[in-house]
Amino acid sequence: MDAMLSLIVPVYNEEEVLEVSFQRMDEVMRRIGYPYEIIYVNDGSRDGSMKILRRIARDNPQVKVRSFSRNFGHQLAVTCGMDAAQGDALIIIDVDLQDPPEVIEDMVRAWEDGADIAYGKRKKREGETLFKKFTAACYYRLLKSMSATAIPLDTGDFRLIDRKVADVFLKMREHNRFLRGMSAWMGFEAVPIEFVRNERYAGKTKYTLKKMLRLAMDGIINFSDRPLTLCGGFGAVVSILSLIGMLALVILSICGVHYSGWLWALCGLVLLHGITFLFLGIQGAYMNRMYDELKDRPLYIVAEELNFEE
Ligand code: UDP
Ligand code: MG
Repeated sequence: MDAMLSLIVPVYNEEEVLEVSFQRMDEVMRRIGYPYEIIYVNDGSRDGSMKILRRIARDNPQVKVRSFSRNFGHQLAVTCGMDAAQGDALIIIDVDLQDPPEVIEDMVRAWEDGADIAYGKRKKREGETLFKKFTAACYYRLLKSMSATAIPLDTGDFRLIDRKVADVFLKMREHNRFLRGMSAWMGFEAVPIEFVRNERYAGKTKYTLKKMLRLAMDGIINFSDRPLTLCGGFGAVVSILSLIGMLALVILSICGVHYSGWLWALCGLVLLHGITFLFLGIQGAYMNRMYDELKDRPLYIVAEELNFEE
């Protein structure tokens, strides 16, 4: 039995690129040779995208379309595509041809060689503003330093995932989704595939600054407890410093040195603030646990089993 591939393409106001994008992706998929489906998820487009999708779907039975009632955002559009996909491997790609469809061939080869995840790694980014490149570079490094999950640098959501990885995604129903982080969190055998990120074929970015910031926050909040527990460490340091200050005042008193009595008040004030921060940090630690339980991720993920009966 031949394996099947599912291509998942989120679409938001992309009437300028859809037609060309479909032609190129379809050609690549046909060349790869497996049976395939292309799943477009229309994320509440307000332009002519849906009209074009209807026509493409009418003429091409391998194309499936799911259309949202409103704009839910890129990460949820991709999730919806994963929910619908029936393939043995799923490929997630942007519609705007920034991720060159030809790279899918390399991903599929890596998958045939046993990779569970083949993720696109940007060697170079073309046609993106210096601001975007700079902020992206800083952000991924910040996230890496804050997170216990090793999220690979310079990768987006362009990737191939095996069916068993997709099945874990289906179980992870956290609402604020940062898919590239979730994928890294799962582990599995992940192989980077280097590629040059092209310029957008046409149209403007659909990731407004607000959406970018929101995604960046989701990445940090979902994959790092640092913001919650940071103030605990700060509180501990401040408390200790004020205690040292008080000790110094005691020694000064013993040595008969004169100093302003206000210094005691100052140290006391600093100590109280330190303790407040310390307890905020402790509360943060509990909140962190609650947040973990709420996310309800699987406790563990089994990648392979031997000698277990089905
Ligand atoms: N997209 C989406 N919903 C949104 C924003 C974007 O489905 O709210 C899609 C968009 O159509 C494209 C992909 O997500 O296929 C990436 O968006 P874009 O190319 O605008 O982002 P950039 O590459 O500039 O970061
Ligand atoms: Mg793009």
